[in-house]
Amino acid sequence: MRYEPTDQPVMTFTTGPVESYHEVMHGLGSRIVYDFDMSFLKTYERVSEKLRPLVKSETMPVILHGEAVLGLESAAVSLIGSDDVVLNLVSGVYAKAYEPWLARNGAEIIEIRVPYDDIIDPAAVAKALRDRPDITVVVICHHDTPCGTINPIEEIGRIVAEHGAFYVVDAASSFGAMQADAESCKADVFLTGPHKVLGCPPALSIVGVSERAWAKMEANLLAPRGSILSILDWRDAWRSDRLFPFSPSVAEINGLDAAIDRHNREGNERVHARHALTAKACREGVKAMGLKLWPLDEKFAAPTVTAVRIPEGVDDARVRQEIRLRYGLLISPGRSETMGKLWRIGHMGIVAQPINMLAAVVALGHTLNAHGYRCDVAAGAAAVMATIDAD
Ligand SMILES: *Cc1c(COP(=O)(O)O)cnc(C)c1O
Repeated sequence: MRYEPTDQPVMTFTTGPVESYHEVMHGLGSRIVYDFDMSFLKTYERVSEKLRPLVKSETMPVILHGEAVLGLESAAVSLIGSDDVVLNLVSGVYAKAYEPWLARNGAEIIEIRVPYDDIIDPAAVAKALRDRPDITVVVICHHDTPCGTINPIEEIGRIVAEHGAFYVVDAASSFGAMQADAESCKADVFLTGPHKVLGCPPALSIVGVSERAWAKMEANLLAPRGSILSILDWRDAWRSDRLFPFSPSVAEINGLDAAIDRHNREGNERVHARHALTAKACREGVKAMGLKLWPLDEKFAAPTVTAVRIPEGVDDARVRQEIRLRYGLLISPGRSETMGKLWRIGHMGIVAQPINMLAAVVALGHTLNAHGYRCDVAAGAAAVMATIDAD
């Protein structure tokens, strides 16, 4: 059997956006109430309040009405002024892509850059802060999704806090699947989006801001105001006695409401354990087939994405296309610098179930065999099952 490219995938092992949870779909289908009606103002306030214990920011998390890139750009251009010296910690594609936003208001940008299969060394951050005591802002991506690697945001957060710089953390594709919150890493700006682990469609940004970061933004004459890019305009929008600067995404708020309830019903710990076991099953299966993981050290492989090195001489696009058309499975390619070097099996949200990795691993290994690269598919399948059974 063959699927048509226009048929919907059977399973979506992408790295976000991901398929929505059924409960989220139900929430999205709720009645659309006029946004300034007290019933919706109260819903919005309640959703913000429910987010707070997950984000653990000093002040109420701000919801911005565009997917997570809006939060990243908005926070960067609001926080950073012309006199700032920004240390950008680059271990992947996303972190590098922040640079134009960090630099937009004229700040000096210093970079620590490591190969994209490695992570940032906290000692290197400590040294950079000693060498340049005038650094005012440090920026890091927790899980650089195009690499499937996790940076040590808590250890680096302690170093940054000691130095006194503002700490900006993008946790878009780790938040919800592992410990990642503003408090534990001492972030002044903590960014995420509900379209990854929480299983919502792409449409919203979530930003947790510290008191002193708000003060810095308020004082920054270059921070956008009266603009779609303004986070300051939305600071108090969670309060039911305040008006929205412009129409919020009503349906998406209803979806987020359902997503948080679903997450809380399952419980943080169980959600984390489910993602961790799914990731482990995937890694064990991939390795047992004779393939190599992309991260230099498996210790920093992400719980939400397994990045696999593409073996020499194998056609990246053809393999992915075959997996899609023969088995209906969607996996992600690399992105920009990692394109053609790795595949990414995404396992976040609804598809993060260990048994699903059997399909992903076997389909990948089997397809590679058809392309002349020898994979021990039976060993891969056995390793997935053994990992699940051992838990
Ligand atoms: C997904 C993601 C974002 C949001 O960007 P997209 O356009 O949804 O890809 C930002 N940062 C990271 C690390 C992400 O994984």
